[in-house]
Amino acid sequence: MSEKKLALHTFPIGNLGCNCSILYSPTTREAIAIDPGNDAESFLARVAKLNVKVKYLLHTHAHFDHIGHADIVRKKIGTPIYLHKDDLFLYEALKQQAMFFGASVAEPEGIDRFIEDEEEFGLEDSQLKKVLKSIHTPGHTPGSCSFYCEMLEEPMLFSGDTLFANSIGRTDLPGGDYDQIIHSIKKRILTLDPETIVIPGHGASTVLHHESRHNPYLK
Ligand SMILES: [Zn+2]
Ligand SMILES: [Zn+2]
Repeated sequence: MSEKKLALHTFPIGNLGCNCSILYSPTTREAIAIDPGNDAESFLARVAKLNVKVKYLLHTHAHFDHIGHADIVRKKIGTPIYLHKDDLFLYEALKQQAMFFGASVAEPEGIDRFIEDEEEFGLEDSQLKKVLKSIHTPGHTPGSCSFYCEMLEEPMLFSGDTLFANSIGRTDLPGGDYDQIIHSIKKRILTLDPETIVIPGHGASTVLHHESRHNPYLK
């Protein structure tokens, strides 16, 4: 049996069960994490258990349940924080967001790199130079991004709070826009390979062709 080039570990984290995904090379143990969430302790415990070195933290958007403890993780293991610039206002309001969740965090210390639309993210491993491609999918928040991966057995989309199984992200929070989220999903997500497995920001995974046919918001 040939060894897999890329491995994926997804698990819910924090009090709202944000789906965190860790993509890693089984040989070099380098990793990319998507949405480390708001529980640094359990995130770091997973990282230790997987025995990986996380190179950077990608964020689908800057809601507290997805990015709340990114600063704490960066302090502990030196992993840079990546976010689309249009969500900077949410990241800068992290303390207020935390309060809303009945939690508290320190003043955020800044984003290391802004994610561009259609940017490619990879690892040092020569076979894994291109692991993910960002797709700017505003609507849930202005800086919401999805990440597309063609390095696993099936194409895979990490859709954040943009597309869920049989649902879509809410648009009634600051910066949300209903027409924009529908446009993002129809023009940027439903145009991908229909066999794509979607891992949303919360809840069960789904398949794109199921959503294009049955998601009540996309009729
Ligand atoms: Zn959200
Ligand atoms: Zn969320």
